[in-house]
Amino acid sequence: MRRYIYSGLFVAILILLYFVRTKEFERSAFYMDTLWEVKIVSHVYPKRAFNRVFTVIAHIDSIANVFGDGELAKINSGHRMKVSSELKEMLEVGIKMGKLSGGAFDITIYPLMKCWHFFRDRYVPTDSEILAALQRVDYRKIEFRHDTLVLPEGYGIDLGGLAKGYAVESAIKVLKDMGVRRALVNGGGEIGVIGSWKIGIRHPRQQDEIIDTFTLVDAYVATSGDYERYFVKDGKYYHHILDPRTGLPAMELVSVTVVDTSGVWADAIATAVFVLGKDKGKKLLQQLGITRYWIYTREEFQTSEAPK
Ligand code: ADP
Ligand code: MG
Repeated sequence: MRRYIYSGLFVAILILLYFVRTKEFERSAFYMDTLWEVKIVSHVYPKRAFNRVFTVIAHIDSIANVFGDGELAKINSGHRMKVSSELKEMLEVGIKMGKLSGGAFDITIYPLMKCWHFFRDRYVPTDSEILAALQRVDYRKIEFRHDTLVLPEGYGIDLGGLAKGYAVESAIKVLKDMGVRRALVNGGGEIGVIGSWKIGIRHPRQQDEIIDTFTLVDAYVATSGDYERYFVKDGKYYHHILDPRTGLPAMELVSVTVVDTSGVWADAIATAVFVLGKDKGKKLLQQLGITRYWIYTREEFQTSEAPK
């Protein structure tokens, strides 16, 4: 009898050790113009899970990248083609967000981003260049004919406002399908988690400081900030989130963070709220039923124009 008790105890300890002795493994890589950091809690190094996650991220990157010769790049250079299911999903969210935000979020922003040289070489376009580009920004012109995307001449699509969130969500889905019980995927500030994780929100004006922390459980969080891609020229500050009504960077806010049950939606909503500003942005959040968010205005950080 005693032998049974001992062996039972032994098995129980083994099971306990199995559940207790997990480690946090981490792998990072550069995709979509940003650093991706994936953390998986597991007993052994989860090589297969990491490989699958980065394959998915690389795949979404190749679809949504406006440079190179991926799907979206081809469409923007005039190819008429059937779109993949992933691209279609991203386009559908983009179009819906366009409607919900009254055009503040617009995935046909490509000609305008192009006229700002994608913020790559500190170029400030002239008024007439901006006006000409704005004439080719209107998400309502996007048409699908049997899964083939049809855009008017000179139009183009930029999914920079939601593609990272879509890739985060795709990566989390892959991990869930593999049975992973605790993981975090962070694509340059767009984050998705399985299980419970403590998240810090970056201070919009102090690079290494955290302005707030919270616990995220089985959900997504996205941040749109004016400090991600910016430059200063002739004492003026410019950044990459553009207001389609003016063609200029949206200047009321410095950062917006939102929590949602979808990664692609969180990403798109954060960008839309950033463009809309505090009052209209809050209305949109209310309409969408989003209750966890952080909005920081430029007024609150009067110390400097440009982020530090
Ligand atoms: P980040 O990419 O830094 O995480 P966002 O999610 O806010 O930040 O996306 C900004 C990107 O969205 C820009 O680089 C550009 O590709 C695209 N974009 C800029 N302005 C708009 C807009 N008004 N509507 C939709 N997309 C936009
Ligand atoms: Mg976004």
